Amino acid sequence: MTMPMTMTTDPAILRAQLVHAANRLQPLGLATGTSGNLSVRIDAGAHGGMLITPSGIAYDTLRPEDMVPVHFTGPGKAEWQHPLDPSSEWLMHQAVYQARPEAGAVVHGHPTYATVLAIQGLEIPALHYMIAAAGGAPIRCAPYFTYGTAELSVAAVAALEGRKACLLAHHGLLAFERDLARAMWLAAEVETLAQQTVMCLALGGPRLLPAGEIDVVVDKFSRYGLKSRPAP
Ligand SMILES: [Zn+2]
Repeated sequence: MTMPMTMTTDPAILRAQLVHAANRLQPLGLATGTSGNLSVRIDAGAHGGMLITPSGIAYDTLRPEDMVPVHFTGPGKAEWQHPLDPSSEWLMHQAVYQARPEAGAVVHGHPTYATVLAIQGLEIPALHYMIAAAGGAPIRCAPYFTYGTAELSVAAVAALEGRKACLLAHHGLLAFERDLARAMWLAAEVETLAQQTVMCLALGGPRLLPAGEIDVVVDKFSRYGLKSRPAP
């Protein structure tokens, strides 16, 4: 298999990429305070694993060595040996990697417009062709469960069926892609779609594209669109 240029398995590079991406969460409007978290899949034995941002550390003080390697030991089970604890949402990240073999990176945050829709229990409909970047329409909203719980992980994975992003009721946004750059790009794109949805709702809309058109664009993206060079 040919590895894309943006994909690496070098732990030092992955750690640096996570720190860089974590510091872009706030400028991109994807997180406030310490509310977001990021991970990348790593090769960690029979059950796999991930490298994930630590719990409760301000982004601007994060160091590459603060990223926590988490080794999966079974469904919903993992272990780590690190001075810091992994993000409180590590179970949700792990659930995505265990359910979706194509996932190489996971981004979670509480961006304002996605969260506004999620508070109202609304999904993002086919209002713009860019929703195809998330795998299709609608981008669903998973029901509410307390953060960090196995129940939330199960609900999130169900809402992600056939998609690469979902909303989490009364909570925020979850997105994955095959690498971190693409996952960050997708999360920002979904927040833009959420903003468009909120604004169209204010105008009595949104008007929607037919489902067949979204399928056409999903196919175009899979063959040409976002393959070669995602936004940095
Ligand atoms: Zn959260």
